[in-house]
Amino acid sequence: MKLLLTFSRKGRADPGREPVIARVVKETGVLINVEKANIDSMAGEVLIDVPDRSADQIRQRLEELGVSVHVMENAIARDEGECIDCGACISICPQEVFSFDEEWQLRVNSERCVLCGKCIQACPHGALSQQG
Ligand code: SF4
Ligand code: SF4
Repeated sequence: MKLLLTFSRKGRADPGREPVIARVVKETGVLINVEKANIDSMAGEVLIDVPDRSADQIRQRLEELGVSVHVMENAIARDEGECIDCGACISICPQEVFSFDEEWQLRVNSERCVLCGKCIQACPHGALSQQG
C-alpha cells in the first residue's frame, strides 16, 4: 500500500530533521520502500510503499512522530467519459500502470504508480488526475 507522508521542517520539534522513516523501520522491522521524495528546507513530501498487512502499524507510528499520512488508495484517477483509449499514457508511464485489455480498453493498475505526473500531462483529453 502506498502512503504519502508530509511534514514541516520548520521549528525544532518537527519530524523533518529526524530520520523518522529509518526509525520506524528499525522499531517495527517492516521494510519501507521510498518511491519518491521531495524535501527542501521548509517541508517534505515522501511517497512510500509498505506491505498491506503492516500499513496501519506504520501509519500509526509515523503519525505519533508528527508526520501527516495519507493513504493513496487510487493514486491516479481516470475519467472514463473523457478517455478515448488512445494509449498515450501507456507509452509515457515509467511504471507500466496502464495497459490495454483484450478489447483495447484501457486498464489501470494504480498500485504501481509513483505519482510522477507524466501521464496527466500527456493525456490529450484531460482524463487523468491525481487523487488528493
Ligand atoms: S492518454 Fe488519456 S485518453 Fe489516452 S488512453 Fe490514457 S487516459 Fe485515455
Ligand atoms: S503518475 Fe507517473 S507513475 Fe503514476 S500512472 Fe502516471 S505516469 Fe505512471
